[in-house]
Amino acid sequence: MTNKANEAAGFIPADRMRHVGVSKILAMGMRAAEMKKAGRQTIILGAGEPDFDTPTHIKEAASAAMMRGETKYTHLDGSPKMKAAVIEKFRRDNGLEFTPDEVSVSSGAKQVIFNAFMASLCKGDEVIIATPCWTSYIDIVNIAEGTPVEIPCDDSTGFKLTAQALEAAISPNTRWVLLNSPSNPTGSAYRTEDYIPLIDVLRRHPQVWLMVDDMYEHITYEGFDFVTPLQLAPDLRDRTLIVNGVSKAYAMTGWRIGYGAGPKALIKSMAAVQSQSTSCPSSISQAGAIAALTGPQNFLKERARVFQSRRNLVVKHLNAIDGITCRTPEGAFYTFANCKGLIGKTAPDGTVIDSDTAFCNWVLDSTGVAMVPGEAFGVSPYFRISYATSTEELTEALERLEKACLSLTS
Ligand code: PLP
Repeated sequence: MTNKANEAAGFIPADRMRHVGVSKILAMGMRAAEMKKAGRQTIILGAGEPDFDTPTHIKEAASAAMMRGETKYTHLDGSPKMKAAVIEKFRRDNGLEFTPDEVSVSSGAKQVIFNAFMASLCKGDEVIIATPCWTSYIDIVNIAEGTPVEIPCDDSTGFKLTAQALEAAISPNTRWVLLNSPSNPTGSAYRTEDYIPLIDVLRRHPQVWLMVDDMYEHITYEGFDFVTPLQLAPDLRDRTLIVNGVSKAYAMTGWRIGYGAGPKALIKSMAAVQSQSTSCPSSISQAGAIAALTGPQNFLKERARVFQSRRNLVVKHLNAIDGITCRTPEGAFYTFANCKGLIGKTAPDGTVIDSDTAFCNWVLDSTGVAMVPGEAFGVSPYFRISYATSTEELTEALERLEKACLSLTS
């Protein structure tokens, strides 16, 4: 069809985009940003990125690479040096060995996931996803014309998928199970004893592949030892893809570097998807990511300690509010609190809090504090707070929230 004819007919979105929309998280953030622009005292607790800066040694490595002339296309799914850095990371942090053809580097972990689903899903193939989850999983599966099968998990299981629920969800069409630990949005993380029963289920279903998103591996707290399923079940190696990246741990969200490790045939097919979309990850960002993965690692623990003290502050404040309960997350920088006790209450302006979305909208309008409703992640009535912001801002936001909740009546 010519452009003119297209204009006359109007824009017709592709079938694969039918279920894909702009995320509710972004919508809430945009509303809050507009309020801020209009002069309101707004505090946005929605950020999915650390408030720390990228460490200087990483910036210097990228800058030096640029000055050396490393400004051209690189090897399709990561330069040899970049892949070597990823291999070193898996050896050092997880005791896992990979070869370069088992490693894929992309423009962010999101692209790793996108490539994997585009490479492997046929129409109708099912992907089991425990919710609440990072909403992009569902959208990416939809774009790849797969079928997301959501399993709602609540705070009674620590938002973790149980073996029973997994077994019940597996069908002849199941292609993947996707797990994320520590989790966005709940901060909940799987321990060895949580993974073992799930691994046993997967052993009974050899056609089902496992994707694990370990993006928040380095943001975990006292008393929690991070583990990735392949460490516990080497026999699943020929059907497991580990997804990770430098965005959160090294405060490099804008650099757009993520990586995956998995079976060669999958990695090869993912590279083909990448070759026809972005060609390769940015050469300069790869230089920064190499410095991140092979340079000093001790600051990761220091940053995690800062996040831990903010987590403690938020959890304590939230649990002190009548009608709200919040479990203590093991990692990431989010709390996912239950607001069941506030549903049905009425605000002084007459607003009835009949859902978590209504609650978050009302809190934003009346206090200028932006949070994300559980509905955006597939499970209600909850709300997510990102504590990747200063302690002062957090304290102010929590005080406003508490005051607002106190004004609600039955
Ligand atoms: N996985 C999870 C669980 C996330 O929360 C995010 C970003 O919010 C990503 C992956 C994407 O990371 P990247 O910035 O590397 O694409």
